[in-house]
Amino acid sequence: MQPDEKHFGPVWFIPGVKRGRYPYCNSVYIQGPGIIIDPASDEDRLREIRDQEGIQEVWLSHWHEDHFTYLDLFGDVPLRICRKDAPPLSDIGVLLDWYNLKDPHRNHWRKLIEETFRFRPRNPTSFLEDGDVIPFGNITVEIIGAPGHTPGHLSFLFREQGILFLGDYDMTSFGPWYGDLYSSIEETTDSLRRLRATPADIWFTGHDTGVITDNEDQLWRQYENVIYQREEKILSFLATPRSITEIVQSWLIYGKPREPLAFFEFGEHALTVKHIDWLLKKGLIEIVDGKFARA
Ligand SMILES: [Zn+2]
Repeated sequence: MQPDEKHFGPVWFIPGVKRGRYPYCNSVYIQGPGIIIDPASDEDRLREIRDQEGIQEVWLSHWHEDHFTYLDLFGDVPLRICRKDAPPLSDIGVLLDWYNLKDPHRNHWRKLIEETFRFRPRNPTSFLEDGDVIPFGNITVEIIGAPGHTPGHLSFLFREQGILFLGDYDMTSFGPWYGDLYSSIEETTDSLRRLRATPADIWFTGHDTGVITDNEDQLWRQYENVIYQREEKILSFLATPRSITEIVQSWLIYGKPREPLAFFEFGEHALTVKHIDWLLKKGLIEIVDGKFARA
């Protein structure tokens, strides 16, 4: 079921099409200052908010395409993001590099990002950084740096309302994404712990789950545990030495091949490589004759 739009005073949760599943996300609107965060939820609703309430600024939680799609609805209003996540926004070549996309997939993705996600090079007007506290009368927004998913991923705490917008730490059963060139499993776990320790009563997620008001302890635990379950599966599989291709083709992370295959093959490979690097770093696996095996 599509979650409803929910208003908590001036802080609005705007659900994305298809429950905010990729290629959509959920947006947040701050009434008063007229700020939209992550404008890739629902084009019609975003137009309506623009025309009826006004959009004075766009903020992005991070650089991923499924968070910026409808940026072009707002012309040249000021755009803000963390400095560390700004480079891909101004250059599609950098964006593709940061996904570590090589031919033949690179061209397919370039077209998709330009056409489906309406990429146009943009330079942020100014930056949001960890620790910034931005007051707007009865709304105080605290910017919380939460790297791991991307190097400059931000979450947003609305102090008076007790709302924490988690961005792409989305509490889904699939678990966290950390498959980009500059993503990090260790930073992801650190950020999850930091976000979990941030006092809030209501949590908004960037996809799917939407608005969380209870059972949050269990959700945090399950979400972080997905990381360790992925690691455990890979480690068991490496009781026999395996090549990276053999590991990826076993679909240990996504469970089975999914459509569109090019998308999920890329995801399975990207996440697997991060786990292999981490296991090597921890000394839990080693390379034997070009294959990976438990140490
Ligand atoms: Zn993302």
